[in-house]
Amino acid sequence: MIQAKGYAAQDANSGLAPWNFERRELGPHDVQFDIQFCGVCHSDLHRIKDEWGGSIFPMVPGHEMVGKVVNIGSHVTKFKIGDIAGTGCLVDSCQTCDNCKDGLEQYCLNGSTETYNSIGEDGSPTYGGYSNTIVVKDDFVLHVSDKLPLAAVAPLLCAGITTYSPLRHWKVGKGHKLAVLGLGGLGHMAVKFGVAFGAEVTVLSTSADKEADARKLGAHHFVVTKDPEQVKAVTASFDFILDTVSAPHDLNMYLSLLATNGVHICVGAPPTPHEVSAFSLIGGRRSVVGSLIGGLPETQEMLDFCAERGIVSEIEIIDMKSIDTAYERMLKGDVRYRFVIDMATL
Ligand code: NAP
Ligand code: ZN
Repeated sequence: MIQAKGYAAQDANSGLAPWNFERRELGPHDVQFDIQFCGVCHSDLHRIKDEWGGSIFPMVPGHEMVGKVVNIGSHVTKFKIGDIAGTGCLVDSCQTCDNCKDGLEQYCLNGSTETYNSIGEDGSPTYGGYSNTIVVKDDFVLHVSDKLPLAAVAPLLCAGITTYSPLRHWKVGKGHKLAVLGLGGLGHMAVKFGVAFGAEVTVLSTSADKEADARKLGAHHFVVTKDPEQVKAVTASFDFILDTVSAPHDLNMYLSLLATNGVHICVGAPPTPHEVSAFSLIGGRRSVVGSLIGGLPETQEMLDFCAERGIVSEIEIIDMKSIDTAYERMLKGDVRYRFVIDMATL
């Protein structure tokens, strides 16, 4: 076995602390890479607090990691030692069901294996990217360009693909009015992609002090959702709302901002169910839909698109021991706009 170290939560109340564990020896199709940077996703916080249920402890969170390949299995042809590699939220899937065959491994009909908080093929739990090294099946490792600053690329592996994928699926672009709800890790990437795809982008935020940043990211308009006058002014105006909010919020209020046939896309995953009034939908033939991360081919497409366009995440690099402070700030909506852990500080 390969000795690894990381930060783990021992239960839902313990917070994170240093922890030593083992990774599997490389099989013929495995790639081992040493993690240089790992982004901090709000999902990590939901999971370590067991807000969604089903958390497996000890838990090493982290599903936005990039680093250098240090070892490859005998049948690996797509990577060589020294390559820059990344892994997002998935490390395995059946690869035979219709969804997997379509490159939609996140919707694997036999259940995909998540980077952490899953049970892998060998029956042992998976451990994520708040660690020094990882072993992943080659099909679930992404190629990362050396043209972009590596730390700022890490968040593309979750925040990036989670916003890129629905915007592509619903073909959001020129001629569309897109509202991005919540300007955090996912939200700021949604603004960048929305603008890159040619949409007219409005940020809907509870934080008035994020307006200058939103405009710097390329947003055309900014609405403070705590101000009833500003909200009223955008009633029935958006074709799409991309909802990245992590906490419970009143969907009915936001649905009233959709134009006829408007689509509210949920990517944020608050722990409690939304209450949607039928009247919020039927009045304007509106729909509420959802989207989960993205499959492997689309994740590679997104990374290549970002490399070509020079798109990265806006980040604040932190050392590993500051993770609790980072989580506290994240809970207050005070992330500008993704924390990334420098794994050299582990
Ligand atoms: P984040 O950085 O904490 O951003 C969330 C943003 O939501 C905050 O910055 C804040 O923006 C806004 N917000 C927070 N509480 C709010 C409230 N009560 N009402 C309205 N707005 C509020 O989190 P993230 O990492 O982007 O993740 C966002 C959510 O997406 C999480 O639930 C996460 O688990 C989920 N997620 C889903 C997928 C998927 O595949 N679907 C993938 C990754 C993450 P303002 O200050 O602008 O209001
Ligand atoms: Zn995530």
